[in-house]
Amino acid sequence: MEIGLNLDWLEPLDDPEVAAHIRDLGVTWAKLGANVTSPMDRPRLRKFLEGAAGIGLRCVIDLRTSAEELRDWAHELRAEYLGKVPNEELSGHVFSEQYKHLAEGVGEIVADNADLCQDWEWWGEADCPHISGGAFRCFEYGLSLQAVYDAAKAANPDCRVWTGGFGVNANLRFLEDMVKAYCETCRIRCDPRMEECPKCGGPLMPGSGKHFDVCNLHHYAHQRQLDSVLNFYEKQLTRARTWLDGKECSGQPFASTEWGLPTAPTRHIPPWLNSYVFGEVHAVRESEAAEWYDAMFALFERHGFEVVCVHTLRDLAANPTNFWGGYCGLMTEYPLDSEPSEGLRKKLHWETVQKWAHKGREKPAFE
Ligand SMILES: [Zn+2]
Repeated sequence: MEIGLNLDWLEPLDDPEVAAHIRDLGVTWAKLGANVTSPMDRPRLRKFLEGAAGIGLRCVIDLRTSAEELRDWAHELRAEYLGKVPNEELSGHVFSEQYKHLAEGVGEIVADNADLCQDWEWWGEADCPHISGGAFRCFEYGLSLQAVYDAAKAANPDCRVWTGGFGVNANLRFLEDMVKAYCETCRIRCDPRMEECPKCGGPLMPGSGKHFDVCNLHHYAHQRQLDSVLNFYEKQLTRARTWLDGKECSGQPFASTEWGLPTAPTRHIPPWLNSYVFGEVHAVRESEAAEWYDAMFALFERHGFEVVCVHTLRDLAANPTNFWGGYCGLMTEYPLDSEPSEGLRKKLHWETVQKWAHKGREKPAFE
């Protein structure tokens, strides 16, 4: 299993300090988000990919649009789909003009960067209403994924399409629904091997198991006890594997473009951390974080994860807020132990992540 880092535009890879931290950590992957329909993102994506190649990082890019744009498209596509649907066409192309435009944008980006990037995620955390603005049900997401998959493969047959990092809170329901067949009339999910809806006998929309190469999870899990988190992961990942090994899919590997734990010295942790989707979040004590990372990486490796990108290089805010994501960095500006803060410093579990990153380098998962 390889280790990567989830980065953003604020961490330029041509900044010698950022590059030095990444080299020291030894990660082999970088993940970045880019907007398909933003002309501004194209040159800076290119620059990012060049910077990554310069320090030996393989990239996976999370392509998306604005939630508003997408909501309109999803709505029109669904209306159009409900207007036709002869049974024979269910496995064919039933895409609207709106999706054609989107797919063209994806195709251009994939083709323009075929020399630097082979891995493309489609809409990270589409299942999270806070992120996608509620634009996607898995029905629309699955159709958009097919459009993106076809466009990306036409632009670069060697590329791989990753699902959009589902499963915040290790809830994998969206993935399950996405790979199962669907009856729009009865609004039920069915085993993909069924020929027709068992309830109304009507046509079934096939799942999207053939339209991705990598099952990407953002499987954050927040519980107070390490044992319960590990048991929960074990159960969820074992279930997900049965869907991915079923008829609809083809045994796609797991990977994660974003995963992490909020960690902080005890005296800097607010009694609870805020989240838009998780309910109550507890941070892990910095002194115990190495044990948590070690145990979780070992579990992900056992479940065949090809790469896990840690969220993020540094804590998001210099002044701690109570937003949980702000504590997931591997570097921080708040004081560790009893020392005063002296700018950005490595957290106590840096060496554990480093150990796993170097292990991944020795046995690359990819050719
Ligand atoms: Zn039905």
